[in-house]
Amino acid sequence: PLVLGIETSCDETGVGIVRGHTLLADAVASSVDEHARFGGVVPEVASRAHLEAMVPTIERACETAGVALTDLDGIAVTSGPGLAGALLVGVASAKALSIALGKPLYGVNHLAAHVAVDQLEHGPLPEPCLAMLVSGGHSSLLLVEDVTTGVDPLGATIDDAAGEAFDKVARLLGLPFPGGPHIDRAAASGNAVAIDFPRGLTSRRDLERHRFDFSFSGLKTAVARWVETQQRAGATIDVADVAASFQEAVCDVLTRKALDAAATHGVEDILIGGGVAANSRLRAMAVERAAAKGLRVRVPRPGLCTDNGAMVAALGAELMQRGRAPSALDLPADSSQPVTTVVA
Ligand code: ATP
Ligand code: MG
Ligand code: FE
Repeated sequence: PLVLGIETSCDETGVGIVRGHTLLADAVASSVDEHARFGGVVPEVASRAHLEAMVPTIERACETAGVALTDLDGIAVTSGPGLAGALLVGVASAKALSIALGKPLYGVNHLAAHVAVDQLEHGPLPEPCLAMLVSGGHSSLLLVEDVTTGVDPLGATIDDAAGEAFDKVARLLGLPFPGGPHIDRAAASGNAVAIDFPRGLTSRRDLERHRFDFSFSGLKTAVARWVETQQRAGATIDVADVAASFQEAVCDVLTRKALDAAATHGVEDILIGGGVAANSRLRAMAVERAAAKGLRVRVPRPGLCTDNGAMVAALGAELMQRGRAPSALDLPADSSQPVTTVVA
């Protein structure tokens, strides 16, 4: 099926068009620059930017794909989770298209879409698989039996998301927002074992209650303390070493827990998604550690890891292909839509 997907859960206005597993267009307009001076996404600013970007982004996607709106078989949209006002813009736009074109509407879960997007690059999803989603707003381990119906949360962050930790540590080091790519780059020339930063929720006692959960706020605090101590002592801070050591701590915990979850649930495929999946060290470490255990790792290319419309279209097409029921036209935007609800 030919499906158009709309994503507006955070600061990216994404419109993607797919035919089955084939990506035809992935138009993204980001308001990230407008948030940079605040050091984080401002919901009101994001909603307004979505409103302004929506029609031009839809037009751009159709042009790239070489399709007319009337060619579409279905419309998919992120109905949650995300920023309420931002989601509303996407949901209202998708409803308008669905009604005007007389085509089914699928309000889909943002996290399930991050999983489904991999099909556009690597073909049919291995199911069951273990999905690790790491972004500015999420850090979750999911057991995916069927991406259209059965996604079970195994664990998540109990405080900051992984991407949030990258952004906050970047700020401490005087690097621009969003910090992830800058830390990644700085770390390339740093020593990853220069500083032994803490690995959250990995002590024997923590593992009893939080085996598949993450915690990154302690790590962020440890970096802040280290920087302060150095400054007080009048020492210069080796940004590359701090970045590399911090990045190593995050990637170590993420891959350790993902491998443990996969082994515990007897799945051989691990899928990594979300903006932090663009991290070069995470990709390398996950592939290396998984191979040592006889597990396979799939990571979409960076452009498909961050928020985009193609992932929503990919999940929509899969829902249509598997004959799943569409959403009602009074579909609400649900800022806290649980991952167990793949279609609202
Ligand atoms: P959501 O959490 O709802 O998906 P988001 O906009 O925060 O929304 P993404 O766009 O998927 O999520 O990812 C952005 C995050 O990914 C930012 O925190 C950014 O710092 C981080 N990021 C991007 N590239 C890298 C990288 N190379 N290394 C580490 N982190 C990265
Ligand atoms: Mg984003
Ligand atoms: Fe996302």
